[in-house]
Amino acid sequence: MTGGPPLADVLVVGGGPAGLSAATWAARYRRSVLVVDRGQYRNRWASKSHGYLGNDPGDPMELLDRARTDLGRYPEVSFCEGEATGARRAADGRFVVTVDGEDYPGLRLILATGVVDEFPEIDGFSTTTARASSTAPPATAMRRRAARS
Ligand SMILES: Cc1cc2nc3c(=O)[nH]c(=O)nc-3n(C[C@H](O)[C@H](O)[C@H](O)COP(=O)(O)OP(=O)(O)OC[C@H]3O[C@@H](n4cnc5c(N)ncnc54)[C@H](O)[C@@H]3O)c2cc1C
Repeated sequence: MTGGPPLADVLVVGGGPAGLSAATWAARYRRSVLVVDRGQYRNRWASKSHGYLGNDPGDPMELLDRARTDLGRYPEVSFCEGEATGARRAADGRFVVTVDGEDYPGLRLILATGVVDEFPEIDGFSTTTARASSTAPPATAMRRRAARS
């Protein structure tokens, strides 16, 4: 037996709604899953999120907390907090994800790393502005409709 992290059936990089959904379904199919997440969710500036079934509106961080709690019931799932700094396919076909210099092997790899917004360098531009800007067009449209009525 060799040391190091065990082989996961599925490696998921990204622990936002997409990554946790992927992890949930892999676990339900009894696959061992490792979720690697650095915890910088795109909507971390938002106080409310919309359009999630059964959670509209909802607190986006609460949604993730609940999802992680739900996932805690699946012994197949484990979490690794940190940044995946590399991902590659080894000669034997396995995937290897590197976090903090440690290599995590897996049979499958799901990249659920989301989107990173680049905010303009404008004096006074803040996360408050980001929250109210048009990074989420449906939210902006709903706000405008509410303002008109
Ligand atoms: C202000 C604002 C309001 C929004 N409102 C809504 C809304 O109301 N409804 C809605 O549906 N959507 C909304 N969105 C969009 C929302 O961000 C996405 O729906 C949702 O976050 C996408 O989930 P995701 O899992 O793809 O990405 P994210 O939630 O961004 O999660 C990706 C995760 O992967 C991690 N990651 C990335 N690279 C690495 C790496 N190399 N190693 C480890 N971890 C990594 C990130 O740090 C992050 O934790 C909003 C966005 C913004 C900016």
